Amino acid sequence: KENSNRENNVAKIKVVVRKRPLNKKEIARKEDDIVTVSDNALTVHEPKLKVDLTAYVEKHEFCFDAVLDQHVTNDEVYRVTVEPIIPTIFQRTKATCFAYGQTGSGKTFTMQPLPLRAADDLVRLLHQPVYRNQRFRLWLSFFEIYGGKLFDLLSERKKLCMREDGRQQVCIVGLQEFEVSDVQIVKEYIEKGNAARSTGSTGANEESSRSHAILQLAVKKHSEAKDSRRNNDGNESKSGKVIGKISFIDLAGSERGADTTDNDRQTRIEGAEINKSLLALKECIRALDNDQIHIPFRGSKLTEVLRDSFVGNSRTVMISCISPNAGSCEHTLNTLRYADRVK
Ligand code: ADP
Ligand code: MG
Repeated sequence: KENSNRENNVAKIKVVVRKRPLNKKEIARKEDDIVTVSDNALTVHEPKLKVDLTAYVEKHEFCFDAVLDQHVTNDEVYRVTVEPIIPTIFQRTKATCFAYGQTGSGKTFTMQPLPLRAADDLVRLLHQPVYRNQRFRLWLSFFEIYGGKLFDLLSERKKLCMREDGRQQVCIVGLQEFEVSDVQIVKEYIEKGNAARSTGSTGANEESSRSHAILQLAVKKHSEAKDSRRNNDGNESKSGKVIGKISFIDLAGSERGADTTDNDRQTRIEGAEINKSLLALKECIRALDNDQIHIPFRGSKLTEVLRDSFVGNSRTVMISCISPNAGSCEHTLNTLRYADRVK
Protein backbone atom coordinates (compact mmCIF):
# COMPACT_ATOMS: atom_id res chain seq x y z
CA LYS A 1 0.00 0.00 0.00
CA GLU A 2 2.89 2.29 0.81
CA ASN A 3 3.99 2.09 -2.82
CA SER A 4 0.63 2.55 -4.47
CA ASN A 5 -0.05 5.54 -2.28
CA ARG A 6 3.04 7.32 -3.52
CA GLU A 7 3.72 8.30 -7.08
CA ASN A 8 6.26 11.01 -7.79
CA ASN A 9 6.84 11.02 -4.04
CA VAL A 10 3.59 12.84 -3.45
CA ALA A 11 1.10 11.04 -1.23
CA LYS A 12 -2.16 10.18 -2.97
CA ILE A 13 -4.16 11.16 0.08
CA LYS A 14 -2.96 13.53 2.71
CA VAL A 15 -4.89 14.47 5.84
CA VAL A 16 -3.85 17.65 7.61
CA VAL A 17 -5.42 19.28 10.67
CA ARG A 18 -5.28 23.03 11.28
CA LYS A 19 -6.09 24.56 14.64
CA ARG A 20 -7.05 28.24 14.73
CA PRO A 21 -6.22 30.57 17.66
CA LEU A 22 -8.83 31.45 20.29
CA ASN A 23 -10.78 34.48 19.08
CA LYS A 24 -11.57 37.66 21.05
CA LYS A 25 -15.02 36.45 22.12
CA GLU A 26 -13.66 33.16 23.42
CA ILE A 27 -10.89 34.97 25.30
CA ALA A 28 -13.43 37.43 26.76
CA ARG A 29 -15.50 34.47 27.95
CA LYS A 30 -12.31 33.05 29.52
CA GLU A 31 -12.71 29.84 27.55
CA ASP A 32 -9.88 27.31 27.78
CA ASP A 33 -7.83 26.23 24.78
CA ILE A 34 -8.30 22.46 25.04
CA VAL A 35 -6.20 21.35 22.03
CA THR A 36 -2.45 20.72 22.31
CA VAL A 37 -0.27 19.96 19.29
CA SER A 38 3.07 18.19 19.11
CA ASP A 39 4.56 17.31 15.73
CA ASN A 40 1.94 15.42 13.76
CA ALA A 41 -0.11 14.46 16.81
CA LEU A 42 -2.72 16.33 18.77
CA THR A 43 -4.59 15.89 22.03
CA VAL A 44 -8.07 17.14 22.91
CA HIS A 45 -8.53 17.64 26.65
CA GLU A 46 -12.26 17.20 27.08
CA PRO A 47 -13.68 18.74 30.27
CA LYS A 48 -16.14 16.33 31.92
CA LEU A 49 -18.12 15.88 35.11
CA LYS A 50 -18.46 12.72 37.19
CA VAL A 51 -21.89 11.73 38.56
CA ASP A 52 -20.94 13.36 41.86
CA LEU A 53 -20.17 16.53 39.84
CA THR A 54 -16.40 16.50 40.35
CA ALA A 55 -14.60 17.78 37.27
CA TYR A 56 -12.08 15.73 35.31
CA VAL A 57 -10.45 15.75 31.90
CA GLU A 58 -10.70 13.00 29.31
CA LYS A 59 -7.84 12.97 26.80
CA HIS A 60 -8.34 12.05 23.14
CA GLU A 61 -5.22 11.56 21.03
CA PHE A 62 -5.00 11.67 17.24
CA CYS A 63 -2.25 11.42 14.66
CA PHE A 64 -2.32 12.79 11.09
CA ASP A 65 0.03 13.41 8.16
CA ALA A 66 0.53 16.91 9.56
CA VAL A 67 -0.95 18.97 12.38
CA LEU A 68 -0.68 22.76 12.10
CA ASP A 69 -1.06 24.75 15.29
CA GLN A 70 -2.42 28.28 15.77
CA HIS A 71 0.94 29.92 14.91
CA VAL A 72 1.17 28.45 11.42
CA THR A 73 0.74 31.00 8.62
CA ASN A 74 -1.27 30.56 5.42
CA ASP A 75 2.01 30.43 3.48
CA GLU A 76 3.11 27.43 5.52
CA VAL A 77 -0.30 25.81 5.03
CA TYR A 78 0.24 26.15 1.28
CA ARG A 79 3.72 24.64 1.50
CA VAL A 80 2.48 21.59 3.41
CA THR A 81 -0.72 20.95 1.46
CA VAL A 82 -0.88 22.20 -2.14
CA GLU A 83 2.66 23.08 -3.22
CA PRO A 84 3.90 19.46 -3.53
CA ILE A 85 0.98 18.65 -5.86
CA ILE A 86 1.49 21.52 -8.31
CA PRO A 87 4.06 19.85 -10.62
CA THR A 88 1.85 16.74 -10.89
CA ILE A 89 -0.91 18.85 -12.49
CA PHE A 90 1.23 18.89 -15.64
CA GLN A 91 1.40 15.09 -15.50
CA ARG A 92 -2.31 14.48 -15.97
CA THR A 93 -3.23 14.62 -12.33
CA LYS A 94 -6.65 15.71 -11.05
CA ALA A 95 -6.12 17.06 -7.57
CA THR A 96 -8.61 18.08 -4.91
CA CYS A 97 -8.05 20.09 -1.75
CA PHE A 98 -10.91 20.14 0.79
CA ALA A 99 -11.46 22.26 3.88
CA TYR A 100 -13.67 20.43 6.36
CA GLY A 101 -14.90 21.53 9.78
CA GLN A 102 -17.59 23.29 11.79
CA THR A 103 -18.68 26.83 10.91
CA GLY A 104 -16.19 29.32 12.35
CA SER A 105 -13.28 26.86 12.48
CA GLY A 106 -11.29 28.61 9.72
CA LYS A 107 -12.22 26.84 6.48
CA THR A 108 -12.65 29.97 4.38
CA PHE A 109 -9.67 31.68 6.05
CA THR A 110 -7.58 28.63 5.11
CA MET A 111 -8.94 28.07 1.59
CA GLN A 112 -9.07 31.61 0.21
CA PRO A 113 -5.33 32.19 -0.28
CA LEU A 114 -4.57 28.71 -1.64
CA PRO A 115 -5.79 29.14 -5.26
CA LEU A 116 -3.89 32.41 -5.45
CA ARG A 117 -0.60 30.79 -4.54
CA ALA A 118 -1.39 27.78 -6.75
CA ALA A 119 -2.21 29.99 -9.77
CA ASP A 120 1.03 31.88 -9.21
CA ASP A 121 3.05 28.65 -9.28
CA LEU A 122 1.08 27.16 -12.20
CA VAL A 123 1.54 30.29 -14.33
CA ARG A 124 5.26 30.26 -13.54
CA LEU A 125 5.51 26.60 -14.60
CA LEU A 126 3.62 27.30 -17.85
CA HIS A 127 6.45 29.58 -18.84
CA GLN A 128 9.21 27.11 -18.04
CA PRO A 129 11.24 26.01 -21.08
CA VAL A 130 9.87 22.43 -20.85
CA TYR A 131 6.28 23.59 -21.23
CA ARG A 132 6.71 26.80 -23.19
CA ASN A 133 6.04 25.25 -26.58
CA GLN A 134 3.16 23.06 -25.46
CA ARG A 135 0.45 25.72 -25.76
CA PHE A 136 -0.68 25.09 -22.22
CA ARG A 137 -3.01 27.66 -20.69
CA LEU A 138 -4.62 28.07 -17.29
CA TRP A 139 -8.40 28.40 -16.76
CA LEU A 140 -10.44 29.23 -13.68
CA SER A 141 -14.05 28.49 -12.74
CA PHE A 142 -15.91 28.96 -9.45
CA PHE A 143 -19.30 27.50 -8.54
CA GLU A 144 -21.25 26.35 -5.52
CA ILE A 145 -23.46 23.42 -4.59
CA TYR A 146 -26.41 24.55 -2.51
CA GLY A 147 -29.26 22.21 -1.60
CA GLY A 148 -27.96 19.73 -4.20
CA LYS A 149 -28.03 22.31 -7.03
CA LEU A 150 -25.16 23.96 -8.89
CA PHE A 151 -24.73 27.74 -9.29
CA ASP A 152 -22.05 29.66 -11.19
CA LEU A 153 -20.47 32.13 -8.74
CA LEU A 154 -18.84 34.11 -11.57
CA SER A 155 -21.98 34.46 -13.66
CA GLU A 156 -24.80 35.97 -11.55
CA ARG A 157 -25.35 32.64 -9.77
CA LYS A 158 -26.70 31.13 -12.95
CA LYS A 159 -28.12 27.67 -12.31
CA LEU A 160 -26.04 24.93 -13.90
CA CYS A 161 -26.51 21.28 -14.64
CA MET A 162 -24.12 18.41 -14.81
CA ARG A 163 -23.73 15.93 -17.62
CA GLU A 164 -21.56 12.90 -18.13
CA ASP A 165 -20.19 12.18 -21.56
CA GLY A 166 -19.70 8.65 -22.88
CA ARG A 167 -16.18 8.49 -21.49
CA GLN A 168 -17.35 9.19 -17.95
CA GLN A 169 -16.05 12.73 -18.06
CA VAL A 170 -18.03 15.24 -16.04
CA CYS A 171 -19.23 18.32 -17.84
CA ILE A 172 -20.97 21.20 -16.11
CA VAL A 173 -23.10 22.72 -18.82
CA GLY A 174 -22.80 26.50 -19.09
CA LEU A 175 -20.11 26.92 -16.43
CA GLN A 176 -18.04 29.97 -17.34
CA GLU A 177 -14.29 29.59 -17.44
CA PHE A 178 -11.85 32.46 -17.47
CA GLU A 179 -8.27 32.41 -18.60
CA VAL A 180 -5.73 33.26 -15.94
CA SER A 181 -2.52 34.87 -17.03
CA ASP A 182 -1.63 36.74 -13.86
CA VAL A 183 -2.44 36.43 -10.21
CA GLN A 184 -4.18 39.76 -9.67
CA ILE A 185 -7.09 38.58 -11.82
CA VAL A 186 -7.42 35.42 -9.71
CA LYS A 187 -7.78 37.59 -6.64
CA GLU A 188 -10.60 39.51 -8.30
CA TYR A 189 -12.41 36.30 -9.31
CA ILE A 190 -12.14 34.90 -5.79
CA GLU A 191 -13.55 38.10 -4.30
CA LYS A 192 -16.34 38.25 -6.86
CA GLY A 193 -17.22 34.60 -6.31
CA ASN A 194 -17.18 34.82 -2.55
CA ALA A 195 -19.43 37.88 -2.65
CA ALA A 196 -21.89 35.87 -4.77
CA ARG A 197 -21.96 32.90 -2.38
CA SER A 198 -25.35 31.89 -1.14
CA THR A 199 -26.96 34.33 1.25
CA GLY A 200 -30.38 32.62 1.25
CA SER A 201 -33.73 34.32 1.66
CA THR A 202 -32.82 35.84 5.03
CA GLY A 203 -29.72 37.44 3.57
CA ALA A 204 -27.88 36.07 6.57
CA ASN A 205 -24.22 35.52 5.96
CA GLU A 206 -24.32 32.20 7.74
CA GLU A 207 -26.28 30.73 4.84
CA SER A 208 -22.95 30.32 3.05
CA SER A 209 -22.10 27.69 5.67
CA ARG A 210 -24.76 25.50 4.00
CA SER A 211 -23.07 25.45 0.61
CA HIS A 212 -19.95 23.88 -0.85
CA ALA A 213 -17.83 26.35 -2.86
CA ILE A 214 -15.68 24.83 -5.59
CA LEU A 215 -12.91 26.74 -7.35
CA GLN A 216 -11.13 24.91 -10.16
CA LEU A 217 -7.87 25.70 -11.91
CA ALA A 218 -7.39 23.68 -15.08
CA VAL A 219 -4.32 23.43 -17.28
CA LYS A 220 -5.45 22.92 -20.87
CA LYS A 221 -3.59 22.20 -24.05
CA HIS A 222 -4.73 24.19 -27.06
CA SER A 223 -4.21 23.18 -30.64
CA GLU A 224 -2.88 25.86 -32.96
CA ALA A 225 -5.88 25.81 -35.29
CA LYS A 226 -8.46 26.22 -32.58
CA ASP A 227 -6.52 28.84 -30.71
CA SER A 228 -7.73 31.64 -32.90
CA ARG A 229 -11.33 30.45 -33.06
CA ARG A 230 -13.63 31.87 -30.42
CA ASN A 231 -17.18 30.80 -29.63
CA ASN A 232 -20.09 33.20 -29.12
CA ASP A 233 -19.19 34.40 -25.63
CA GLY A 234 -15.64 35.10 -26.73
CA ASN A 235 -14.86 32.17 -24.49
CA GLU A 236 -12.42 29.80 -26.13
CA SER A 237 -11.75 27.52 -23.21
CA LYS A 238 -13.82 24.67 -24.59
CA SER A 239 -11.38 24.23 -27.43
CA GLY A 240 -8.66 23.11 -25.06
CA LYS A 241 -8.05 19.62 -23.73
CA VAL A 242 -7.70 19.34 -19.96
CA ILE A 243 -4.21 18.14 -19.03
CA GLY A 244 -4.67 18.35 -15.29
CA LYS A 245 -6.60 20.35 -12.74
CA ILE A 246 -6.90 21.21 -9.09
CA SER A 247 -10.17 21.84 -7.24
CA PHE A 248 -10.31 23.85 -4.03
CA ILE A 249 -13.41 23.03 -2.01
CA ASP A 250 -14.67 25.07 0.91
CA LEU A 251 -17.18 22.56 2.30
CA ALA A 252 -20.42 23.37 4.09
CA GLY A 253 -20.11 23.60 7.89
CA SER A 254 -19.87 20.02 9.12
CA GLU A 255 -22.38 20.71 11.92
CA ARG A 256 -24.99 21.61 9.26
CA GLY A 257 -25.37 17.96 8.39
CA ALA A 258 -27.10 17.58 11.73
CA ASP A 259 -29.82 20.14 10.90
CA THR A 260 -32.16 17.31 10.02
CA THR A 261 -34.59 17.85 12.89
CA ASP A 262 -34.84 21.63 12.54
CA ASN A 263 -38.35 23.17 12.59
CA ASP A 264 -37.80 24.82 9.23
CA ARG A 265 -38.48 22.45 6.34
CA GLN A 266 -35.95 24.06 4.00
CA THR A 267 -33.22 23.85 6.65
CA ARG A 268 -34.04 20.17 7.20
CA ILE A 269 -33.78 19.40 3.48
CA GLU A 270 -30.46 21.24 3.21
CA GLY A 271 -29.16 19.52 6.33
CA ALA A 272 -29.98 16.11 4.90
CA GLU A 273 -28.25 17.02 1.62
CA ILE A 274 -25.10 18.21 3.44
CA ASN A 275 -25.05 15.10 5.61
CA LYS A 276 -25.35 12.93 2.51
CA SER A 277 -22.55 14.72 0.68
CA LEU A 278 -20.08 14.65 3.59
CA LEU A 279 -20.73 10.93 4.11
CA ALA A 280 -20.36 10.23 0.39
CA LEU A 281 -17.13 12.22 0.29
CA LYS A 282 -15.67 10.18 3.11
CA GLU A 283 -16.65 6.94 1.39
CA CYS A 284 -15.09 8.03 -1.92
CA ILE A 285 -11.79 9.03 -0.31
CA ARG A 286 -11.66 5.75 1.58
CA ALA A 287 -12.33 3.82 -1.62
CA LEU A 288 -9.54 5.76 -3.34
CA ASP A 289 -7.16 5.03 -0.51
CA ASN A 290 -7.91 1.31 -0.72
CA ASP A 291 -7.38 1.37 -4.51
CA GLN A 292 -10.93 0.13 -4.97
CA ILE A 293 -12.10 -0.14 -8.56
CA HIS A 294 -15.60 0.97 -7.66
CA ILE A 295 -15.74 4.51 -6.26
CA PRO A 296 -19.21 5.29 -4.82
CA PHE A 297 -19.35 8.77 -6.33
CA ARG A 298 -23.10 8.53 -7.04
CA GLY A 299 -23.82 9.10 -3.36
CA SER A 300 -24.21 12.88 -3.72
CA LYS A 301 -24.05 15.83 -6.08
CA LEU A 302 -20.70 16.84 -4.58
CA THR A 303 -19.04 13.49 -5.31
CA GLU A 304 -20.68 13.22 -8.75
CA VAL A 305 -19.24 16.59 -9.73
CA LEU A 306 -15.83 15.39 -8.54
CA ARG A 307 -16.12 12.08 -10.34
CA ASP A 308 -13.20 12.62 -12.73
CA SER A 309 -11.03 13.66 -9.79
CA PHE A 310 -11.61 10.32 -8.07
CA VAL A 311 -10.34 8.14 -10.89
CA GLY A 312 -6.94 7.62 -12.47
CA ASN A 313 -4.12 9.83 -11.40
CA SER A 314 -5.63 11.65 -8.45
CA ARG A 315 -4.34 13.51 -5.42
CA THR A 316 -6.47 14.45 -2.43
CA VAL A 317 -5.63 16.78 0.44
CA MET A 318 -8.09 17.08 3.30
CA ILE A 319 -7.55 20.04 5.60
CA SER A 320 -9.63 19.58 8.74
CA CYS A 321 -10.11 22.87 10.54
CA ILE A 322 -10.74 22.90 14.28
CA SER A 323 -11.63 25.49 16.90
CA PRO A 324 -9.57 25.33 20.10
CA ASN A 325 -12.18 26.47 22.64
CA ALA A 326 -13.81 24.22 25.22
CA GLY A 327 -17.28 25.14 23.95
CA SER A 328 -16.49 23.57 20.55
CA CYS A 329 -15.17 20.32 22.03
CA GLU A 330 -17.90 18.07 20.66
CA HIS A 331 -17.67 19.52 17.13
CA THR A 332 -13.87 19.32 17.27
CA LEU A 333 -13.99 15.64 18.21
CA ASN A 334 -16.49 14.97 15.42
CA THR A 335 -14.22 16.71 12.89
CA LEU A 336 -11.16 14.76 14.06
CA ARG A 337 -13.04 11.44 13.94
CA TYR A 338 -14.15 12.20 10.39
CA ALA A 339 -10.56 13.02 9.39
CA ASP A 340 -9.37 9.86 11.13
CA ARG A 341 -11.81 7.76 9.10
CA VAL A 342 -10.67 9.35 5.85
CA LYS A 343 -7.01 8.67 6.62
P1 ADP B 1 -15.45 29.00 8.46
O1 ADP B 1 -15.24 29.32 7.02
O2 ADP B 1 -14.98 27.63 8.82
O3 ADP B 1 -16.84 29.25 8.92
P2 ADP B 1 -13.78 31.30 8.85
O4 ADP B 1 -12.68 30.98 7.92
O5 ADP B 1 -14.78 32.30 8.38
O6 ADP B 1 -14.53 29.99 9.32
O7 ADP B 1 -13.12 31.76 10.22
C1 ADP B 1 -13.87 32.30 11.30
C2 ADP B 1 -13.13 33.49 11.88
O8 ADP B 1 -11.88 33.07 12.46
C3 ADP B 1 -12.77 34.53 10.84
O9 ADP B 1 -12.91 35.83 11.42
C4 ADP B 1 -11.31 34.25 10.54
O10 ADP B 1 -10.64 35.41 10.10
C5 ADP B 1 -10.77 33.74 11.86
N1 ADP B 1 -9.70 32.73 11.68
C6 ADP B 1 -9.88 31.49 11.21
N2 ADP B 1 -8.72 30.78 11.18
C7 ADP B 1 -7.77 31.63 11.65
C8 ADP B 1 -6.35 31.53 11.88
N3 ADP B 1 -5.68 30.39 11.61
N4 ADP B 1 -5.70 32.59 12.37
C9 ADP B 1 -6.37 33.74 12.63
N5 ADP B 1 -7.69 33.92 12.45
C10 ADP B 1 -8.40 32.89 11.97
MG1 MG C 1 -16.65 29.88 5.58
